[in-house]
Amino acid sequence: MFVLLLALIPTVLCVILFTKQSKLSREVEDMEKQLRQSQGQGNKTGGSPFPTPTPTPTLTSSPQPTDGTAAGGDGASVPVGGDDVEPTPTPTLTPTPTLEPSPTPTLAVDPETGEVLPWADKQVYLTFDDGPSGNTDDLLDLLKEYGVKVTFFVIGKTDDESLRLYKRIVDEGHSLAMHSYSHKYEEIYNSVEDFEKDFTKISDLLYDTIGYVPDLYRFPGGSSNGKCKKLTIQPFIRFLQERDIRYFDWNVENGDATGVNYTVEQLAENLLDGVSKKKSSVVLCHDTNAKTKTLESMKIVIPTLQEKGAQILPITADTPMVRHVLPADE
Ligand SMILES: [Zn+2]
Repeated sequence: MFVLLLALIPTVLCVILFTKQSKLSREVEDMEKQLRQSQGQGNKTGGSPFPTPTPTPTLTSSPQPTDGTAAGGDGASVPVGGDDVEPTPTPTLTPTPTLEPSPTPTLAVDPETGEVLPWADKQVYLTFDDGPSGNTDDLLDLLKEYGVKVTFFVIGKTDDESLRLYKRIVDEGHSLAMHSYSHKYEEIYNSVEDFEKDFTKISDLLYDTIGYVPDLYRFPGGSSNGKCKKLTIQPFIRFLQERDIRYFDWNVENGDATGVNYTVEQLAENLLDGVSKKKSSVVLCHDTNAKTKTLESMKIVIPTLQEKGAQILPITADTPMVRHVLPADE
């Protein structure tokens, strides 16, 4: 009897332990399944079931030269073509150079007090139309000195100096964008065919010079120019949209093309006053031989913007669009 008990007790204990163990492993399996399901749902809605720590904005001192931090234009030059069977290869549109600054926004702070500067949350996109010109080299030197990147909306010029300047603009990391070839309203806006002719000339010229066609355009006179005599601007907007080209107008001007003979200080004041009222400013300035005062005014504008902590940026694919006339379907 005793021997029998000795054999029976461990057996019974074993059976009990086995049932407990299998019950526990089933529970573990169930819990794993639930966890997987909740993770799956989390992914679908773009989140994770676990709270992720929010990245803290990095605070840096100001003024903060951005020289060298931008990706530069070299990555953008993607010449297309080669052994094309077609007799005339059409230039392929390539996206705007990736010039974005670091993805983490940095708020400029006062190096002495440590306080965030008053314009730290402002983005300023300086744009220069109608170049290249005899002032472009000086402007580029100045921009390099301050370590800022801007956007040039250029027109068509074929002399050696201009061809060199298109390349210099791109090489130094600025955004190069189209502003028509001729800039002659009556030629460009006469019909969609005429617009296309002009567009093809500027896009071919830039493709041959810098190796790609920019995907940014500014209508001569802006989209609200009122120069499209027979047509509205809509057919021309559609033309660009069909080619995935974005057009940009402006929401701040320095007034250098208004006909008023502003002084250097007034041009700077007009610009800074406009920027003070906006979170994101696309600023219209001009780069022509006559606009030496605009060039000079940048020696006030850029350091002031930097002292106040504003971010000076080139227009890229991420830049919020500023358009006076929207496409008909928007
Ligand atoms: Zn213009």
